[in-house]
Amino acid sequence: MLIDLVTGPQTTNGHSHPGLLEHLRATAAGQTTYGEPGHTSTHHRANTTPRYNPKASQLLHDTHTLMARITSYLPFCATSTTPLGASTEVLALRAAAHTRTLSRHPDAGHTYRELAGLTRRILSIIDRPAPRHRIPCLCGNQLSAPIDATTVICERCGIVATLEDLERDHMRAAIRAGETFTLADLPVALAIAQTPASPRTIRHWRHTGQLPVVDYTEAGEPVYRPADLHRP
Ligand SMILES: [Zn+2]
Repeated sequence: MLIDLVTGPQTTNGHSHPGLLEHLRATAAGQTTYGEPGHTSTHHRANTTPRYNPKASQLLHDTHTLMARITSYLPFCATSTTPLGASTEVLALRAAAHTRTLSRHPDAGHTYRELAGLTRRILSIIDRPAPRHRIPCLCGNQLSAPIDATTVICERCGIVATLEDLERDHMRAAIRAGETFTLADLPVALAIAQTPASPRTIRHWRHTGQLPVVDYTEAGEPVYRPADLHRP
């Protein structure tokens, strides 16, 4: 849900749709023709100047406040950076990278419900069709679900799965198949596979040769193959 604020689901050609915040900003600024053509009611707005939307603007403010509060729960953020100076996107990404830490905070349940409510409010106000999750089922069927959905149903094979489980299974299959990752992507991949490792652990694996460099990207970045790891 945090990531949805920053970036939308991937399109078939690998690019990402804009996130909810970008839609919300466009709505706040009255740029209502933004989005896929044919879905917005442009006929009565074509010749009008952009109209400022105070409700959307308030939602932007509320989102920033919530993100600032969530990231203030992260111990190292309080001293290293000022949440006030960071953009809402930066805060949301920082929070998304630390959902595990955040889930242990005593206020986690309440905060999650607040975030879900905020997401629903944003979806109800942005003037375009709501973005949807698109993820292939394990049977290969392409699934589509509302962005605030947590489970999906596959009409072909009848499976009911949580998006989290599907993402985990896809990532595990990719790792098993020998996919390689850069050092930046590795912690994310392992977290999605639900076999997380701390940067310190990853450093240890590299130094002990358990995780050798197997190749380089076109940009010359080393890549690693987590399938080679023999984890307890
Ligand atoms: Zn299926």
